[in-house]
Amino acid sequence: MPLHETDAFVLRTFTLKEADKVCIFFTRETGKIRGVAHGARRLRSRYGASLELFTEVSLRYLQKENKELVSVSSCEIIRSRFFEGMSSEILGVMHYFAELVIEFFPDHEPNEKVYRLIGAALDAIDTASPAQLPALVRYFEIWMLKLSGFFPDWRHCGLCGRELTPEPSRGSSIWLTNEGLPQCTTCSGQMGEELHAAEWRLIQEILTQAPAAFAARSRDLRVVNPLGQIGYVATRLINRVLERELKSFEVLDRLKPD
Ligand SMILES: [Zn+2]
Repeated sequence: MPLHETDAFVLRTFTLKEADKVCIFFTRETGKIRGVAHGARRLRSRYGASLELFTEVSLRYLQKENKELVSVSSCEIIRSRFFEGMSSEILGVMHYFAELVIEFFPDHEPNEKVYRLIGAALDAIDTASPAQLPALVRYFEIWMLKLSGFFPDWRHCGLCGRELTPEPSRGSSIWLTNEGLPQCTTCSGQMGEELHAAEWRLIQEILTQAPAAFAARSRDLRVVNPLGQIGYVATRLINRVLERELKSFEVLDRLKPD
């Protein structure tokens, strides 16, 4: 039975029998895995606080052939992200991020980019003001879609392939279908939702900037709120991919600007 060793983020834990927990990790080496932490529910568990949400750990586990669940052999904290008294907004965002990673990525599929995105997004949460959290949520959603291959090519019309530019003055604008797929003015028949230049630029920022830099940029949201519109688009795409609404949407509703 080979012993594996890798860094990992804790995404979720749940109870298994009296003393054990099943944990879902996102590992640097092999992507998402599920493992049993024996004795983790005991009062004086050797796991301590290492199995809290998004704790980064040095994980050692044994993997039997043909067994879906690995067996956790040790789990040492590299960095904790969870603390008593953290705001319910931040906790809600972290649960949502964990749920997105769990839902979007299959088990045992390595993805170093996702691993690094999680770390960078958590760093950004650490320094973000409450007002910056929605920007981080949008950032993470777009990148989840992108890294799982479900973010549409927003530079070209989904039907005719024409290059899209958000310049209504030149008669060319971008329209989103009910499913959030971009089309040119002609193909869309101007049906659906128009993607405005500000939203277009925002997506470009998300795809080219680090999360902390993106969240920290000050935006005047009094006149237009492109972030809200991006959130609408991202949510529709996510629902379409997963064919259902995520549980954490409910928690996040409280974060939405009026
Ligand atoms: Zn077209």
